[in-house]
Amino acid sequence: MTTAPLTFDPRKIPDLSRTKLVATVGPASREPQMLLRLMAAGVDVFRINMAHGSRKEHDSVLKAIRQAAREFGRPVGVLIDLAGPKIRLGNLLAEPLELQVGELVTLTRNADPQSPTELTSNYEPMLDELQVGHEIVLADGAARLRVVMVTAESATCEVIEPGSLRSRQGINLPDTNLSISALTERDLENALWAASTDIDFVSISFVRNAEEIHQLKTLLSSAGSEARVIAKIEKREALENLQAIVQATDGVMVARGDLGVEIELEKTPLVQKRIIRLCQDLGKPVIVATQMLESMHHSKQPTRAEVSDVANAILDGADACMLSGETAIGSYPEAAVRMMKRIMHETESLLRNRASRGHHQTADQKICMQEAMLLGAAQVARHIDARLLVLVTEHSTTALLKSKQRDFVTTVCLTDDQKAAQRMSLYWGVVPVMIDSLRTYCRLPKSIADWAKEHLGLLPSQRLVFVLDTADFPDVLDTIAIAEIS
Ligand code: PGA
Ligand code: MN
Repeated sequence: MTTAPLTFDPRKIPDLSRTKLVATVGPASREPQMLLRLMAAGVDVFRINMAHGSRKEHDSVLKAIRQAAREFGRPVGVLIDLAGPKIRLGNLLAEPLELQVGELVTLTRNADPQSPTELTSNYEPMLDELQVGHEIVLADGAARLRVVMVTAESATCEVIEPGSLRSRQGINLPDTNLSISALTERDLENALWAASTDIDFVSISFVRNAEEIHQLKTLLSSAGSEARVIAKIEKREALENLQAIVQATDGVMVARGDLGVEIELEKTPLVQKRIIRLCQDLGKPVIVATQMLESMHHSKQPTRAEVSDVANAILDGADACMLSGETAIGSYPEAAVRMMKRIMHETESLLRNRASRGHHQTADQKICMQEAMLLGAAQVARHIDARLLVLVTEHSTTALLKSKQRDFVTTVCLTDDQKAAQRMSLYWGVVPVMIDSLRTYCRLPKSIADWAKEHLGLLPSQRLVFVLDTADFPDVLDTIAIAEIS
């Protein structure tokens, strides 16, 4: 039997930072050369934001990412971000519209405004759902209104925070129970398109309950997709149903942009910590998103506060941090990725000495046994001062269990399933590596040891610990093995 060649060049890992980096692709980053540079700078997962661009553009960006990943030789994940029911102002009669405190404006059902202080929206049932006393947040908090009177045809609102408005800016209704589903017609169409591709993750915006997660999961799986679902937490109602949502979903995003408008801004840091802790307890990966290096849109250097924000998200236990406009439309996409990786690398030194975690809240016996095996393997690796833990698996779930243990034993996950490798790219602290076939596993310890010697600079007499996934190899008894570099 010949040993399968390893199609991965670890010299292309810019560093082994444990926290993963999600970067949004846009006009500033979608050219093939730039995608390659961003991968070299440390991007693990690319996000395609469905709020912007056409199907044709999304399709070509996805193909460009896959092509770049093949060229680069490293598995990279792709996240399709469904826009959800983002409510927007219609056109204003004159802009900008300057709102003064105490002034009255009207929201109407009209398609076009009849006066400068008449506001329209793209959300048809708004007047049926608004109630007297509800707040209306405009343009990400630039101005605020309070509803003082509602009729069938209009809502009269008083300006409670002054600000300047432009056409088609966002509207958030933090007090209002919206009848619209988190999955709009357009989201369903986009999800079906995503399912027809080899997409790894699909995120659902403005999710409010676990039912919406199940709906998207069912849609994806009945269309034959293995894509995992990410719940974007950005609504008050989502926080009320957090436990059920996290249980139902495959991953979570702390979507601080809209969250900071839907709840009091000063509450977002503690909410971030609460979401991350719950994800750790339930064994789900969590991404912290929005404004992480915001000033790098136009500046080569982030602010001190932004650097601290990224560091604190890592210390909170985030699996990944996300860049949005910084890489999509910013002037310094590559510098932003490099900066974020540097912060990750530096900050993780504080996590090294924390005790590793096991025992997630699950009643699944198989999961418990796999966890025990992985905890044991990390223990063995530390005990013999092994340089590398090699997890041989067909399934990304085992890699996720290892990831959530949060130990610092450098972990390479070998798999022959391209999709599993791509999913693992989101998981904290595991490096996915594609091999041609797992069936050659009995020869692996020797070949991996040779490979690690050549590519990671391991020296003779240094050791590796291997874990063969019990789910994949039921007839193999010795699922933990040790090899020494010869
Ligand atoms: P968005 O989601 O960028 O799609 O709005 C992230 C957020 O709201 O923080
Ligand atoms: Mn959002």
